[in-house]
Amino acid sequence: HADLAMYEAKAKGRNTFHFYSQELDAAANERLYIENELRIAIKEQQFKLHYQPQVNSESLEVIGYEALIRWYHPEQGFIPPDKFIHIAEATGLIVELGEWVLEEACTFSMQLQGVGKAGSMSINLSARQFKDDRLISTLADVLKRTKMPSHLLHLELTESMLMGDVEAAITQLHEIKKLGVALSIDDFGTGYSSLSYLKRFPVDMLKVDRSFVKDIPEDQNDMEITAAIIAMAQKLQLQVVAEGVETREQVDFLQKNNCYVVQGYFYSPPIAQSDVEAFCDALKQRI
Ligand code: C2E
Ligand code: MG
Ligand code: MG
Ligand code: MG
Repeated sequence: HADLAMYEAKAKGRNTFHFYSQELDAAANERLYIENELRIAIKEQQFKLHYQPQVNSESLEVIGYEALIRWYHPEQGFIPPDKFIHIAEATGLIVELGEWVLEEACTFSMQLQGVGKAGSMSINLSARQFKDDRLISTLADVLKRTKMPSHLLHLELTESMLMGDVEAAITQLHEIKKLGVALSIDDFGTGYSSLSYLKRFPVDMLKVDRSFVKDIPEDQNDMEITAAIIAMAQKLQLQVVAEGVETREQVDFLQKNNCYVVQGYFYSPPIAQSDVEAFCDALKQRI
């Protein structure tokens, strides 16, 4: 029996190993595949931006939009950003892709401003873009080329991007602020940010991460954390946006805790450029 058990354990171990190595192969292959396809996608312009409205839940006014990248692959169909942004980041392709996002979103924002639908335009920056020496000149070029008013451009950064070399991050943040561009901390509360640094970062806005919002009003802890983040933002004179708001109850809770700007499926998912104007008009009918 002992021998048999040993044999079984070994066989199982081998199988397990075999299984994992196959999984690793598959992951490595997928990564390589995405990397190759990304290069082609940039050349062939397979990307689009969708825009998610940020709504003032009291006035039902759209105060801004977040640009979110969409990849429509000719064979694979839609590939979500979580599947490729980290690969674009690791290969450096994100710098080129990020420039396209910036120019495209500013161009669309100018179009919206032209029809009286002004608002901020938020863009997600990746760590690589943030640390890139060319960021400041790229921003300045795009602002000039598109004539985008700099205060309407908001850049979203995450806490982890700011933590490593804090002094270098603070310098870079000040360089961005000199251009008149606004800064937000995205997914706030999920990174390893130090509250003592928060004061030193010249940021304008915190975005409460969806993970804290999604179980309101069932989860008491999440409600307390969310209320504390909002209160802290106000103490530090930062604007606050709640992400991932899906229900009326969540809107009510946020209002009670002095957070009026929300983003989430309750008002709208990210939508195609051609639907944005109609959305703004329709929103007013919801009162
Ligand atoms: P994020 O910046 O935190 O964006 C919010 C994500 O939550 C988006 O996912 C959005 O579609 C989703 N979302 C919004 N409201 C709701 C809601 O009510 N419920 C749920 N379940 N989800 C909601 P998406 O578009 O898949 O983007 C995922 C992440 O990919 C983004 O997270 C951002 O970190 C990154 N990303 C997207 N576009 C870009 C880009 O152009 N550049 C860079 N560097 N990263 C990007
Ligand atoms: Mg974001
Ligand atoms: Mg977020
Ligand atoms: Mg995120």
